[in-house]
Amino acid sequence: MEQHTPIRGRFAPTPSGKMHIGNALTALLGWLQIRSMNGQYILRIEDIDTQRSREELTVEILRDLEWLGLDWDEGPGRDSDYGPYHQAARQALYEREITKLQHNHQLYPCYCSRADITAASRAPHGIASEGLRYPGTCRYLSEEEATIRKLRKKPSLRMKVPQQRISFIDGIAGAQSYLLSDGGDFVVRRADDMISYQLAVVVDDALMDITHVLRGADLLDSTPRQLLLYQALGYEPPQFAHTPLMVDAEGRRLAKRTRGLSLSFLRGQGVKPERVIGWLAWTAGLLEKPELVTPADLISLFDLSKIPSSPIKISDETRQQLFET
Ligand code: GLU
Repeated sequence: MEQHTPIRGRFAPTPSGKMHIGNALTALLGWLQIRSMNGQYILRIEDIDTQRSREELTVEILRDLEWLGLDWDEGPGRDSDYGPYHQAARQALYEREITKLQHNHQLYPCYCSRADITAASRAPHGIASEGLRYPGTCRYLSEEEATIRKLRKKPSLRMKVPQQRISFIDGIAGAQSYLLSDGGDFVVRRADDMISYQLAVVVDDALMDITHVLRGADLLDSTPRQLLLYQALGYEPPQFAHTPLMVDAEGRRLAKRTRGLSLSFLRGQGVKPERVIGWLAWTAGLLEKPELVTPADLISLFDLSKIPSSPIKISDETRQQLFET
């Protein structure tokens, strides 16, 4: 008999800010994708950056999701063998995978400070999600140089990125192809032992058997590095779909400037959750008009191909529709 891999998706918020409508769109579309395939929806709190993450924001995110009617099968409050569901409690798992990469000689210690990298990278090959491209200084250190540097500073660990082209089909953005080396050798563990987002997210998605990753388009250019890590660690990658970002009439990212569109603000204004859900589904192309609906009402309408691949423009008029009762 044919064996089917169980469908598993996740929403993976970082509790360093309030949940805004852009995050809610990602959560809703991810939920619909998984519910339309009768899969399991997992909530994982990405609090690896303990400096920026706040427990009270996690509590608020859970409340926002419940308010919207987006339930999760595993995650905070719904434990299973795949847990823990807070990245801060998963350090040992990340270290185990780093050891695997070290055994395969895929990492090297890097002693450079941010200032060194800025000075060394004359060409502005910045990549959107992680700043400057690392020029590879420490990858080719002589043994003598490495010994001297080791005495002065604890190193970070970087992945040796090969000159390789990575291609994949994104469920929303379509065919993608990147030259991996364009992004430079990236950090998997900082000198202060903090695990990088790239490593943590791959380890978590792999160990949690995630088959479908739906997330914001700001992470599209992280995907090639993550695919490299899947390859290096010997895990099967999930299918990716990147939802368009919401922008204002001038094309500026809404999430960066509009504090007013946090879910707690909308709730405080007396906006109904059904209004928010219907409005989100309308802006994402699932509804003809912004009706009042519940997430469950949308399951049968869900279709990845209906979701636009270009940014969703939220004009003042569109925004106003959220507040119609
Ligand atoms: N934690 C990331 C965020 O809140 C999402 C990571 C992911 O979905 O891969 O933007």
